[in-house]
Amino acid sequence: MTQAVRKFEPVTLAPAESAKARFLAHVSHEVRTPMNGVLGMAKLLADTPLTPEQRSYLEAILQSGSLLMGLMDELINYSAIEIGRFDIAMKPVDLRTLVDAVVELSAPKAHEKGLGIGVFVSPDVPEHIQTDPLRLQQILINLVHNAVKFTPSGSVGVFCEVTDGQVHIRVSDTGPGIAKSDQLRIFKEFERVGDTGAAPGSGLGLAIALKLTEAMGGAITQTNRANGGSDFILSLPVTEKAEMHNQSLSGQTIRLHGLDGPERDAMIATLKSQGAFVLEPHQAGFADILITAPVDEKTNKSPNAKRSIVLITPAARGSLDALMADGYAGYLVRPVRATTLERVINGAHTATNVSRIAIAPRLQASRSLHVLIAEDNQINALLVTAALGRAGHRVTHVTDGAAALAAMADTKFSLVLMDLHMPGMDGPEAISHLRRIEDETGAKRTPVIVLTADARAEIATAMKAIGADSVLSKPVDPRALTMACEKVSNS
Ligand code: ADP
Repeated sequence: MTQAVRKFEPVTLAPAESAKARFLAHVSHEVRTPMNGVLGMAKLLADTPLTPEQRSYLEAILQSGSLLMGLMDELINYSAIEIGRFDIAMKPVDLRTLVDAVVELSAPKAHEKGLGIGVFVSPDVPEHIQTDPLRLQQILINLVHNAVKFTPSGSVGVFCEVTDGQVHIRVSDTGPGIAKSDQLRIFKEFERVGDTGAAPGSGLGLAIALKLTEAMGGAITQTNRANGGSDFILSLPVTEKAEMHNQSLSGQTIRLHGLDGPERDAMIATLKSQGAFVLEPHQAGFADILITAPVDEKTNKSPNAKRSIVLITPAARGSLDALMADGYAGYLVRPVRATTLERVINGAHTATNVSRIAIAPRLQASRSLHVLIAEDNQINALLVTAALGRAGHRVTHVTDGAAALAAMADTKFSLVLMDLHMPGMDGPEAISHLRRIEDETGAKRTPVIVLTADARAEIATAMKAIGADSVLSKPVDPRALTMACEKVSNS
């Protein structure tokens, strides 16, 4: 595997602008800390008995608080980019998996709004491309989130194709599109156009996405679709070649029902790329397979096809037994992955076994842990103590790194939660000391989880490099915290 780290050339800024960016980063950071307390306390409160009225107020606090945190993250992110403080780490990336993951992440929001969402990755896309996976994911999440956010009805699709030595990742939606005069403006900071209505946002997302894309040698453009809606096209250079691929659906005739817009286009493109023949909606003829949303009983009862496969959203899994009893030969959960589509079509002659649906494994009853937390902020310490205490664990609290090392010399803890910035000895210094002592004495390694208000990926990488086992960004969700503690102490 080749792995190259390319330092992004800092954008040349006037000193005043650079000072502004640093100021912004500092202020954002200072706002995150108290917001942490607000959100954490609100989450603890949510687990206590409340009247319905109190619960609705609390939900409003949590919602506004998370919005503000999201805004802060964007400001920190943006100012880090402005002052050139980020690296591009190129490595071979499986684009299919990355795009599937981004679409799956946005699917719950899309489905909640009644939107469809789909993916097509052309066979001419190489198995691996040389890019920075974290940055690419960040850019795509932004484009797909926007598509879902600004589209009131219809669907969203992500299409990946290669032409002229570039991979083009197109995010299409059936939303309002963008006026010609605004097509460049939206990539500038704090620009929001059209009727953004109640859609939350800072107008920073696309500015960040463009800067990251350019740092990777690529480009982003927006055009409007013929029937309304936007196409955002992210183009990146590729040098790799695609391998030969076999057409596993050749000879199959498929009819689609109940899908529209880019989600439908994505499914058709996927079927055709596998060699299937897809009938147009009004084209006569008998299909081998009908793929249909559960919209219309008649289609199911007398399908123009030998077998029918029903499309469901994850939320509709409860009705699956009834649907299968209706005589469907199989089911597909939206958003449909290409590999699943192929498997279900090829296996649709045997009824799909409903019991195969994955059920989240029940959480293991955990043993009681003794956790040391080094944290100078009393509110954060209280939050962690309460969250872990509820899960049956014991917590000892100290306020700096030196006190943490002293406590560990006396007592054997299951793990340590370490804040980054503390007066006296800070987190990184304490971790380095601890690892050195363990090496010198041959003592068993105590797992360390770093708690940080700085959500940048670089911080997590740097902390792991000095010996942290895991990094959680604040505000820590009580459940995520408990799970992380139980996980590191088991491994
Ligand atoms: P934000 O989403 O926080 O407002 P962005 O920088 O991501 O900021 O987007 C800037 C503006 O571009 C949005 O406010 C919106 O007016 C417009 N925009 C972005 N994506 C779309 C889209 N898919 N359809 C319509 N308008 C969009």
